[in-house]
Amino acid sequence: MNILVINAGSSSLKYQLLNPETGELPAKGLCERIGIDGKFTYKPQVEGKQVLDAIDVAMPTHSEAIAAVLDILVDPVDGVIKSVDEIDAVGHRVLHGGMEFSDSCIIDDEVIKAIEKCIPLGPLHNPANLMGIRACQAVMPKTPQVAVFDTAFHMTMPPKAYRYAIPKEYYENDDIRRYGFHGTSHKYVAKRTAELVGKKNFKMVNCHLGNGSSLSAIKDGKCMDTSMGLSPLAGVPMGTRSGDIDACVVQFICNKYNMSVDDCLTMLNKKSGMLALSGVSSDFRDLGDGADKGNEDCKLALEKFAYEVAKYVGAYAAALNGIDVLTFTAGVGENDGLVRGMVCDYLGFMGVKLDPELNKSRGKEMVISTPDSKVQVWVVPTNEELMIAQDTAELVNAAKAK
Ligand code: AMP
Repeated sequence: MNILVINAGSSSLKYQLLNPETGELPAKGLCERIGIDGKFTYKPQVEGKQVLDAIDVAMPTHSEAIAAVLDILVDPVDGVIKSVDEIDAVGHRVLHGGMEFSDSCIIDDEVIKAIEKCIPLGPLHNPANLMGIRACQAVMPKTPQVAVFDTAFHMTMPPKAYRYAIPKEYYENDDIRRYGFHGTSHKYVAKRTAELVGKKNFKMVNCHLGNGSSLSAIKDGKCMDTSMGLSPLAGVPMGTRSGDIDACVVQFICNKYNMSVDDCLTMLNKKSGMLALSGVSSDFRDLGDGADKGNEDCKLALEKFAYEVAKYVGAYAAALNGIDVLTFTAGVGENDGLVRGMVCDYLGFMGVKLDPELNKSRGKEMVISTPDSKVQVWVVPTNEELMIAQDTAELVNAAKAK
């Protein structure tokens, strides 16, 4: 089976052609500067096929971008499939499913309307995701399309986790509540961890630590709480996002500097976090290098990050009445033994014991705790595209079987 996974942004479109059963990845790539001067990248994973790196291709809209993707995938020399009919379905990443979607679903007119209804909650991403969906529908009208939402995995949270303590009307009239993000990654890691530990019923905290970071409390494969909120700004501090912050900070800054709320939010999303604390970079590799050279601000950024991540793990361990497994994933979680070690140093009180040798590993799926650790600690590399392909295949196969 071949699933085309699409992640459409406002002027970009990432694609992967995947086999959901084996995880085999014949090709992937990226369309950039759509609507500007169109740059096309194609990375076949099959030997002997030519790589295209940011070549000029006219892509006035997402439709031409999808057409260019299909053209190269079926190219007689450099393609990896013979015809577009070999693509069984398309899986689309959609940022915000609001209260409308608690699972992935096959796209029809009703689903498109519901994704449109969620635009106020995901004003930057949902319109772009819709452009990707519409472009695929236009170019491949017979191929089933599936929407996979970044928020859906978190819809099992109980009200005590998702409600904000503000007047009820904002929840009832405007759907203001905690939604959470990185849901496809948390879902993949929860599913994979269940396979790795060989059981279904257990309690875990997953730390998705990358440029954007979020933690989820997961019981028996279901999300019970998560650190991001109505938007991805909430939770632990991130590459350029502040994370949780007293709302009065916004009021103070807007009043004192005559700044609009929107501009203040841009500052909190794009100029804060590790970048602001270190004054050097949002990239954790740079922070590690800076700290090694004695840069106190880089050290503080790393300390603050590990401290806030550990606080969330502790809070979620309390929320779940103890945990069996702690997992690390995404760019920092998979690769940065220093950060993992700093986080776990806080967690000795709950019986977490890291094996320092195992914790040196990078990017490998493996246990990194000692055999006598009360909580098993794992590195589980995430694979959001594979999760999207698997959800898509499952829905399309179920529809066929009906
Ligand atoms: P992501 O958003 O998941 O792509 O993660 C990006 C973050 O992962 C960046 O801050 C990178 O610095 C960090 N990262 C990637 N590789 C490494 C590594 N080998 N060591 C430390 N951090 C890394």
